[in-house]
Parts: sequence; C-alpha cells; structure tokens
Amino acid sequence: EDKNVIEIKEEKKPLLAHPTQHVEVKRDPKIQIARLKLPILGEEQRVMELINENEFLIVAGETGSGKTTQIPQFLYEAGYASTKMIAVTEPRRVATVAMAARVGYELGLSSKEVSYLMRFEGNVGKETKIKFMTDGVLLKEIQSDFLLSKYSVVIIDEAHERSVYTDILLGLLSRIVPLRRKRGSPLRLIIMSATLRIEDFTENTRLFKTPPPVIKIESRQFPVTVHFNKHTYSDYLKEAYKKAVKIHTRLPEGGILIFVTGQQEVHYLVRKLRTSFPYKKNVDYSKLIQKKRPTLTETEQALDSEPEDIESDDDEVEKEMKRMRKARRKMRQKHKELPKINLDDYDMPEDDGQADLVDDNDDQDSEGHLSDSDAEDDTLTAAIKNCRQPLWVLPLYSMLGSSKQARVFQPAPVGARLCVVSTDVAETSLTIPAIKYVVDTGKKKMRVYDHVTGASAWRVVWTSQASAEQRSGRAGRTAPGHAYRLYSSAVFQHDCVEQYPPDICRRPPDHLTLTMKCMGIDKVVNFPFPTAPDRMQLRLAEQRLEVLGLLERHQSKAKRSDDEDVLKVTALGRAVSAFPLLPRYGKLLALSHQPALLPYSVALVAALSVPEVMSGKPDSWPATGHLLLLGDPGVLLRAVGAAEHAHLKGEEELFCAKYGLREKAVEEIRKLRKQLSSEIKLCVPNAVTSLGDARAVDDSQARLLRQLVLTALGDQVATKIQLHEVKEGEDKRKYKYAYHCANMEEPVHLHSESILRKVIPEWVVYQELYETGSEERRKMVMRHVTAIEPEWLPVYVPKLCNLGDPLSDPEPRYDAASGRVKCHFKGTFGKAGWELP
Ligand code: ADP
Ligand code: MG
Repeated sequence: EDKNVIEIKEEKKPLLAHPTQHVEVKRDPKIQIARLKLPILGEEQRVMELINENEFLIVAGETGSGKTTQIPQFLYEAGYASTKMIAVTEPRRVATVAMAARVGYELGLSSKEVSYLMRFEGNVGKETKIKFMTDGVLLKEIQSDFLLSKYSVVIIDEAHERSVYTDILLGLLSRIVPLRRKRGSPLRLIIMSATLRIEDFTENTRLFKTPPPVIKIESRQFPVTVHFNKHTYSDYLKEAYKKAVKIHTRLPEGGILIFVTGQQEVHYLVRKLRTSFPYKKNVDYSKLIQKKRPTLTETEQALDSEPEDIESDDDEVEKEMKRMRKARRKMRQKHKELPKINLDDYDMPEDDGQADLVDDNDDQDSEGHLSDSDAEDDTLTAAIKNCRQPLWVLPLYSMLGSSKQARVFQPAPVGARLCVVSTDVAETSLTIPAIKYVVDTGKKKMRVYDHVTGASAWRVVWTSQASAEQRSGRAGRTAPGHAYRLYSSAVFQHDCVEQYPPDICRRPPDHLTLTMKCMGIDKVVNFPFPTAPDRMQLRLAEQRLEVLGLLERHQSKAKRSDDEDVLKVTALGRAVSAFPLLPRYGKLLALSHQPALLPYSVALVAALSVPEVMSGKPDSWPATGHLLLLGDPGVLLRAVGAAEHAHLKGEEELFCAKYGLREKAVEEIRKLRKQLSSEIKLCVPNAVTSLGDARAVDDSQARLLRQLVLTALGDQVATKIQLHEVKEGEDKRKYKYAYHCANMEEPVHLHSESILRKVIPEWVVYQELYETGSEERRKMVMRHVTAIEPEWLPVYVPKLCNLGDPLSDPEPRYDAASGRVKCHFKGTFGKAGWELP
C-alpha cells in the first residue's frame, strides 16, 4: 500500500494513498438499470474524488437515495477492498443483515465476501471484503485493535440516529484516522446521514479541527400530502386499523406503510388486517383490479420472484395473540376501566383528554382525503365485506428473521395490495419500494431514565417533528403520495419536540462514564463527543464513581506536570456496569452475594426507583431493632412485600387504599423487580431472585441491607448535630437536632414522616436531598434515610476516610459475637473531617 503514496513536494497537503487498481464487477443488467435510477449514481465520480483526496467525508442525502447500498460498491470497485476490508456500521440489527445481503446481491458476490456481524450472529470469514456490522461490534474491535488495522475505510451509516455507540465511535475515529496517517497507512472515515443535523459533525472543532467536506445527494422526492386527524385518540392501534381499512377500500392502488411502536403491536395489526382482507392462495385476483393495476418498476421486475407462503408465520402470531388475549383478560378483571384494544404490555398514553382538539388544518386536497369521524364503524364493516381485493400484509421490525425481512422488498402478488406494518426501522434504515400511503401513529418507543436511580424503561412517546417528516416522506418515493398522521396538528405543534437530543446526552452521566471506562476510554471528560454532555456533570460522575470504588486512580504514564491521574475501571466497576441502573444501585445489587438477600435488595432498589410510593405516616409498618434502623427504605421494603402478598390474594386495591400506597407505584415496582431479576439472572446465572415476601427480613439481614445501602450511598452520609440548647419549657423534640452532611454548610433534617424520628441515630445515609418550606422557613430535608454505624465507614467507604497510622492496625476486624467491625485506630471521614469514633 505504501508504494501508492504519491509525493508532491510543492503541495502542503500530500495526497493520501488510495488504491489505483480497479476491480471489475459484472452486474446483472436488470440490477444495473435499477441502480442507474438512484440519485447517488450520478454523483459517483464526485464522491470517489472526494473520498480519494480526504480522510474524512460526510455524505448527506435523503433516505432512499442509495447511500447505504451504493457507496460500499463504489469503494469496492475502486479497489478499497483489495488489501484491507471496507467496514460499514449500522445502529440497527435489521439494517445490518438486509444491507449486507443487498450489496452482495448487487455486486454478484457471495455472503462470504459481503458479510455481516452483530452480537450472537454473523457470517464473516477469511474472504470477507465488505463487512456490515452493528456499531457495538466495531467498538468492541477497537478495544482489541485500536488502529483498526484490518480496514481501509470505515463507513458510519445512519449517523443522524445518534446512537450512543455511533457517537462514541465518531469520537474515537476522529483520533484513530490521524494516527493511521502517521503510520503511513491511511484510514478513511465516511459519515453517512439523512440530511438531519449534520452541523453537529461539521461545526464541532473538538471533533474535527477542520470541518470535513460534505456531499449532499439531492434526491427526487414526489410531493406528499400530509393529513392530520381532527382528533387525537389514545387508542392509536384502532385508529391505524381504521385508516388502513379506509385506504384499502376507497383509495387507488399503492402500497401502505403503517408505523407503530413495537413488535407486539406489529403482530397485532398484521393479524387484524389479514383477517379483514385475507389473501387466499390458488385464487386468481388479477381480474379484480385489471384497470387499476400499477406497472412494475424495473427494480421490482428485477426482483420478481415467488412470494413466500404468507401463512408461514401465522403460528407465531397465533401464539402471540393467545398470550395477549389471556393477559388482557386478566388485566381487565383487575381494572374494569381498561380500554379494550390496549395491549397490556405497554404504557399507553393517557391523553384521552385531547380528543377535543379540533384540527384547523383541514386538507384542501380532496383526492386523498379520508374523514376521521368515528361514527362510522358500521360503514367500515360493510366496506370490509364488500371489498374483494386482498391485502398483502407484512410485518417489519428489528428482531424479525432475515428471510421474512426480505419479503418487504418484493412486490405483492398480482391483485393484492402491499401493506407493511413496521416499527421505526422503516423510518430511515430501510426503504420499501412502491409505498404511496403512510399511516403514522405518531408514537415510538424510547428508553427513559429515572433521574434518581437511573433505572430505565421503554416508554411510548410522541415522535419528534423531524421523525414525523421522515415518516411522511416515505410515501413519495416513486410517485406523489399521502401521509395520514393519526393525531391533530395541535399535537404536532405542541407535544412533539422538534428533535430529541442525542441518546448520549439523555443517558445519566454516571452510567455513561462507567460504560466508557469499561471500553478503555479513560479520559471521558475530554472525549471528543459529537455533542458533549455537560462536562461538570461528567467530572462529578467520575468523582462519585471513585468514591464508590468503581474507578481507581492510576498515575498518568506521560509524566507531564499538567497531566492528571487517570481513573480506570475496577473489577467491581466492570461487574456493576452490567446492571441497567445508576452505578451506585448496580453496586448494591452486585454486592448482594448472599442468595437469600438478593430478592430484598432487588425489591429495595425497585422501590427506591419509583417516586412517591407512600403517603401518610409510616406508623402502620411497625418495626423494631435493625429493621427500624433500616429506616425509610426498610418501611418501603415491608410495604412492597405486604402489597405483593395482597396482590397474590387479589386484594391489592383495597390494601393500597388502606395503607396509603399509590397503586400505580406498587405496580411499577413489581414490573421493575421482574425486569431487574431477569437481568440479574443474565449476569449471575445461579442467582435466586424470586419475588419473595419482603416482610420477612430478619435482623441480621436487615443489618446486611443497611451495610449494602451504605456501600451505595457512601458519599451521602450525614451526622447528627445539636442545633441549640433546649431551654426550659421548650418542646424538647422541636428542632433540637439536625444533621450535617459532608458537602453542605447548612443543617439538613429528617423528613417529618421519617420512621427514624423515633430514634434519631447518630449517623445516617440518605438517598436524596430536597428543599421544602416557604421562602423564610426554607429547609433542606433528607429523603429515604437509613441509620449506619460509623465503624462501617472505613470498610465500606474507604475512599472517604483518612485513617491514622494504618501500619499499626492495618485491618479492621470483624467481631462475630457482636456482629461489629472494630477498628482500633483514629481517623476522620470526608472533607468535613468528622472524627471517627
Ligand atoms: P439510503 O441508504 O440512501 O437510504 P439505500 O441504499 O438504503 O438508500 O436504498 C436505495 C434503494 O435500494 C431504495 O430504493 C431501496 O428500496 C432499494 N433497496 C434496498 N434494499 C433492497 C432490497 N433488498 N431489495 C430491493 N430493493 C432494495
Ligand atoms: Mg441507508
């Protein structure tokens, strides 16, 4: 490769080595015809010149313009895969497989030569020339081969999705590429993006000192008429079904693409639509629609092959449906008010109140107009009955098997109309030919994080306005089309954000920092993120992780005086990073080795993750001894256990009302316990994580739980202080004591309903501080307080202890008889320098 370097002395910037040996490709003429229709083909020469002359390049182009399928081919033909490989990363599994197959097919190469690799699956081999992979896989490869020496080009596809891994990859590659150049073996980076938000890459001088050149691929897009619903109904699946029925029974030929939020919703709609407009084999439908039948495009002709048996995945669907029906019946018995079509596994939006939003944007265009009044269920039923044309309904979602995925690219059988029900994978990753109608529920699933515990859950949320535009655009690929948004334009304007912030900024900084440290990225604060999370937050997160013992200080190798020590991940930190929680709670779980303890700590973390579980005094939860000292988390734990018991007996509602528990919260805790339990089983195969009755905690377990809580909250210790002398006749309890915590001057207080008011322990840890009271009587209050023993501090929070001469008594001793740890040397704790007893 080095032989190819062209040295031109006068030029400041020498040209980069690029291959000069072209590779002959003999394509099937049909494929060639289809390719020539793609806008990017006209730009091949310009694209290749820019790639040859630059290390970094951004290719921005509308979805469907041919970026993913064509640019790897250009590179292959130019010889970029002759000595090293071409890498293409995708944020979605479904695109990884589909695109590798397509590129291989167009080049006439085998799946050994154009391969894919993702977690748990792949067909990469020695002969591989072009390698499609998920972004996570390339990140893993960087950990073992930082220079990515196997590759001549790395293409980061779908960069606009801004997945956490893609963002980290971009940061790393911005540094790897110059290193490769120094070694005399250049690596090229091509960032491919739908036209959204490329300024984050071009205007970020930390990432790229000089902005990389940008090629914009203009693509032919036919006009799409957008129709808003007048009303916004919460049951968007029912609406989507109705809209699809109306399109099929009333509007001219053309494929339908329906966007829903997840796999189960996809199956549900597929099933419902197939039942309404069944496609029967051995029936000749061609006469039905002779007049309307659209002509096939070349792409379609090129791919014309026998469609697979449509019944093939019905078993799967049937099972799914049975399960859902059963679950729903169960749920309905519990909650009589549950709407009928809702799928129980989802958090359905509670926005029925919006049904009175009237749309002012009545569409002028009458051709594609469909009313959305709902007094027409009978008309619908009649329309279904009278319609003899079948609907060729196909599912599409990320985890769908690859042969079933491929069906969406094939034309529907003669006489049937294509209808694809998809999650957001069809938004930008995959382009389905011949779609004329888009039905957009306006919803998608998004991971949301709890800001206190970092526990995350998938929630159904409104899509961004940018996504809505993308989805609509899918209707105008081959001809003018129509997009039906199943919500009002008021919702679009007021409830849909313009664009969601990149995932990396939504993830809690502690979690992100730990994840990156596990990847061997030690300087997280200085990392060249495309969009950087708040640096102060990252710094604080690093400090917290060090105190928790998840990171440890290593002396910087470079002995420059301005170099700080680096904080590297510890073995415990690595274990903790596997938990989908804020690291402090992950640590609590990871340290719950004792099998009998694990269900309690899971219940505890779950309960601490859900806000406002209880209202009113905790007196209904009498506790003594260590359980009392476990404090407010202990009360929560007992409440959760008791509620679980009531739930099994079917008396949850009554129970919650009686003891002042919020029923929704109790349900959420149950869900979270299940989720955490199953995730723990993945990390610790033999873990016992039944949802046992948490009331039965005994004294020694309560003590261990207190120690575990300390390991998690060790940076949030407070110690009792006496506020002032109590004068005679004064209420002795009133404001006599308060607490002092390490990072705040002003005193903090126990919550007025804290069970620990009965004891007022000397030392405590708290989950959170918050402010209450009016302007003048403002005070800081601790939430969820647990009593601890100061002797535990050197053992469980050693990082914050300054101990006397450790040589005189190096090990704190555990005294089995008293169950206490004894340390015989003096020391102080924390910045406040509290004397340790
Ligand atoms: P982009 O990456 O710019 O969004 P793609 O390269 O994914 O565009 O798609 C270009 C064209 O190739 C689209 O019209 C798409 O329908 C078509 N295409 C992609 N995969 C297949 C396939 N497996 N079968 C048929 N056509 C396909
Ligand atoms: Mg693409």
